Formats: sequence, structure tokens, C-alpha cells
Amino acid sequence: MEKLIYEKSRPGRRAQTLPASGVPEANLSALLGSAERLLPPKLPEVSELDAVRHFVRLSHLNHSIDTGFYPLGSCTMKYNPKVNDALSCLDGFRELHPHQDEDQIQGALELMWRLQESISEIVGLPAVSLQPAAGAHGELTGLMIIKKYFQRRNDSARTKIIVPDTAHGTNPATAAVAGFTVVEIKSNAEGLVDPEALKAVLGPDVAAIMLTNPNTLGLFEEKISQVQQLVHEAGGLLYYDGANLNAIMGLVRPGDTGFDVCHLNLHKTFSTPHGGGGPGGCAVAVASKLEQFLPVPVVVRSGDRFSFDYNRPESIGKVKGFYGNFGILVRAYAYILTHGRSGLTQVSRDAILNANYLKERLKKNFHLPYDRPCMHEFVLSGIYQKERGITATNIAKRILDFGAHAPTVYFPLVVSEALMIEPTETESKQTLDEFVGIMLQIDHETKESPDVVHNAPHSTPVGRLDETLAARKPNLRWDDTKAATA
Ligand SMILES: *Cc1c(COP(=O)(O)O)cnc(C)c1O
Repeated sequence: MEKLIYEKSRPGRRAQTLPASGVPEANLSALLGSAERLLPPKLPEVSELDAVRHFVRLSHLNHSIDTGFYPLGSCTMKYNPKVNDALSCLDGFRELHPHQDEDQIQGALELMWRLQESISEIVGLPAVSLQPAAGAHGELTGLMIIKKYFQRRNDSARTKIIVPDTAHGTNPATAAVAGFTVVEIKSNAEGLVDPEALKAVLGPDVAAIMLTNPNTLGLFEEKISQVQQLVHEAGGLLYYDGANLNAIMGLVRPGDTGFDVCHLNLHKTFSTPHGGGGPGGCAVAVASKLEQFLPVPVVVRSGDRFSFDYNRPESIGKVKGFYGNFGILVRAYAYILTHGRSGLTQVSRDAILNANYLKERLKKNFHLPYDRPCMHEFVLSGIYQKERGITATNIAKRILDFGAHAPTVYFPLVVSEALMIEPTETESKQTLDEFVGIMLQIDHETKESPDVVHNAPHSTPVGRLDETLAARKPNLRWDDTKAATA
């Protein structure tokens, strides 16, 4: 029954019948000239029902947060409330055009301004831009701001960015793209930044340290005050990778712990959809000494009027067309308003509780290299299972057979056979218990029936792909020369 839409195609079959047109047919050749196509496009000719089945079938081939548990560590795959979508689809938002006069878009400007203010309050830094399209883009914006700051101080010696070995891969990549040299420091035995290792690399050539707190092991950097002091005394700045803000809202503010710049992935903490290449959103917040460098335009308020401020001669310039992905900003603002101050704090408390619950229930069967209270996520190691010939990849693939998404694997690099698990706050205890059941069953299988795990997945639309080839050369086209004619 799994026929593809092209196989179902029959000449002349249509999804709709329109009444005959009363308008004379245009002379297309005269209109289009040499641009007129000579052969009709090879589109499938199908009924409406076949078209609907085609798209619904495609939508079921992928795992999504709306279909199942998604504990992909560091990605914060929380539920995206549908009310956010409904609000961003209100006519007054959806039908705006970026070239409209400011007089006509006061409501949209006010929403952006209020979102800036909310984020400023959440992170404890005074000035915010909503322009970047994603986390890595926000990192680049932040580092460009840091670069310009030192240029304006005529301090051209600061060419290095310090990055801990637990950092997300985007951090060193961004630093390199922004024209800095990356200096990696090793974490200590507790998985945290080692102040001694930091001291050894600090000096007049360091522009900034990029830190994720809690770090990608899910651990809070307890020595953050000391780190802050060391970096500032050496004349450097502190960059906060706020992708993991889900762990600390209402509990700690990056600005209060001495960070100068911070980016937030709206598609993680603030429940806007993870794009799959579609629109993402990111806020960059900075300390007042960096405010003048923010990308133009910045949304400002004067009395009851809101406007785009382009008159910022020290700005790093634009980092994105127009003003960011506005529909995403509406969703993030709706999420913040829905929860309010106490609700956002509860989000973080619940995210921490869910992660610690799973960690405690799984640590008897899976090695837990850093056995301490975690924040929003934790990292197991599959080394016990590896001794039985089963890798983290095997475990991840087997999880798919049970209808859950796999954790992040082989990251962070400091843990061998890493399984990085982030349940998020939106999952119920029953779902967490089901996942524990899956993991314990897989552990059992590694002893009793290892082949089942070794050859997984058994129930997904495709089995083990060459993941590199699938990403670099995806096969997305229907090849009618190979099709069986029916
Ligand atoms: C997700 C993530 C990023 C990158 O964000 P994108 O929106 O995917 O570019 C950076 N740092 C950390 C810690 C992350 O988890």
C-alpha cells in the first residue's frame, strides 16, 4: 500500500473541477516569449484524497515533539504550545509587510520592544537585539560586538577567544568565523572550568571567554564568580551561551554573574519551533558599555510611540534582512506572557527536577561519569554496554524502535560513549517512567539478545543510513526513469 504519489498518478486525474472560464485565454507565447516552457512540468495527477495521503504520510516519516518523547540533549525539545502559533497567525501580525510605515505597525513594534524588555529582565542585561536567526548567528553577532568594542579602544592585541572543552561546537566555530583564534581549556575532574587552567591562558591577547552555564554536562559552574573576576581583571569580556537558559530562568541571571554578552535561542527555552531549516529566532543581550554596537535598527520607545532607531553610528551594522523573524518573536512573547515571572521560574525548576529524576533512575544501569546533582540535562556513558559490544550508536538506534527520539550521542567529547539526555519540563512523570522502561529493557537486551540492539532500528521508515552521505547528498527527487510503469 506504500505507493508514492507519482506511482498513483493517472493522466487527467484532478483534485478539483473548476467551472469553465469566461475569460478569453491569454496568448502565453506572446507574454512569455523565450521564457515559455516547452514541455509541461511532470507533476503527479491525483485526486485530493491521494494528495492529502501523500502529505500526511510524509509528515509521519519524521519524529517530532508532537508525536513522541524527544530527549535530545542540549536541544531543549520542549512542547511548542499551539496558542503561540494561533497568536502569530492573527491577521494583524501575519499580514504585515516589512516595508510598511512605522505609523501602521505600532503594535508590532510595541511587541518587539516589550519582548526586548522581558529578555533584558530575564538575563539581567540592559540592551537587546532580536535580529539574529538562530543561536550560532547570535554568537557571531555577539563576537562581532566584542571585536568592535576592542577596536574602539584601540586594543588590537586581543585576538583570542577561550572555550572550555565541553563547549558546544558552534562556539569555537563562531570564534573562528569572527576572525579570532580559539584557545581550548580542559575541564577539571568535576567537569567544570578549572580556574588554574584559565589563569594559564589569560593575558593581554584574550578578548573573551565563551561559557555555557550550566555547561553541556548539565553542571552549574560553581566557580563562576572567580572565573568572572579572573577574566575581567585580565581585561577580557565574558560571553554567555544562553542556549541552556531553560535551566536557570528566575534562578540566576547571566548579567548578575558578570557576563557582558549573552544570546538566547528562542527555539529552545522560549518554545518556538525548531526549524528543520525554517525560521529560527535569537535574542542577543549586552551590558551598557556594548549597547552602542548592537545591530541596526534597534526598536526604541519614546513616550507612547515606538520606532526603529537607525541612527547608531557605532553599530556593527545589520546581521539579517529586515528585523528578524517576526512570527517567531510573537510566539516567544506569547510564551513569556503565558508563564509570567513565577511561571518561567517554575519551568526551570521542573526542567531540573525531570532531569534529576531520570538521572537517578538510570544511573544504576548506565555509567554516570559526573555523579552530582544536574541542572536541565545530564550525560550518561555507555561504557558498560560497550564492554558487551554495544555502542552508544546502537543504543540510540534501538530507542527509535520504541517511538522515542534518541539522546544526543558522542557529545560532549569529554565523555566516552556519551548519551546526553534532556527531558525538558513539558514531559509527565508517566512519560519519563516509560523512557526509563525503554532504557532498562535495552540494557537487558545488551546481555540477553545483543543482536536486536546491534541491528536496530527495526521499525522505522528507513534503517541505518550513511548519515554523512544522507546529509551531504540527500536523495530528494523522484526518478521517473527508474519507476515501474503500471
Ligand atoms: C543549540 C546550541 C547552540 C546553537 O544554536 P543554533 O540555534 O542551533 O545555532 C549553541 N550552543 C549551545 C550550548 C546549544 O545547545
